[in-house]
Amino acid sequence: MQKHIAVIKYTFKPSGRVLYIVKGVHHDYITTRHFCTCYDYNFRKKKEGCAHMQALSEAIESNKYEEFMLDDEEYSQIFKYELYDVLREEPR
Ligand SMILES: [Zn+2]
Repeated sequence: MQKHIAVIKYTFKPSGRVLYIVKGVHHDYITTRHFCTCYDYNFRKKKEGCAHMQALSEAIESNKYEEFMLDDEEYSQIFKYELYDVLREEPR
C-alpha cells in the first residue's frame, strides 16, 4: 500500500534555483535525490534512502508535483521556514 505523499517544487526566479519540499504526515522536509532533512534519513541511514526520497523520485518521474514560481528573495524565507519545521521535531 502506497501512502500519498505530496511533493512541492519551488522554482526561484531569476536564478532558476529549485527546492523540493516533501510533505510528510507531521512535517515538511527539504528533500533531494541524495539528501533529506528527516529523522529517518539522518539517523537510521537506510541504504535505499527514506520514504521522502522515494516519493520525490516517483514524483519527478511521473511529473506529479505541485509547482510554484517564486522570487529569489523568497528562497531563504522558505528554506528557513521548512528547516525550522523539521528542527522542532522531537527525536523518536
Ligand atoms: Zn526523508
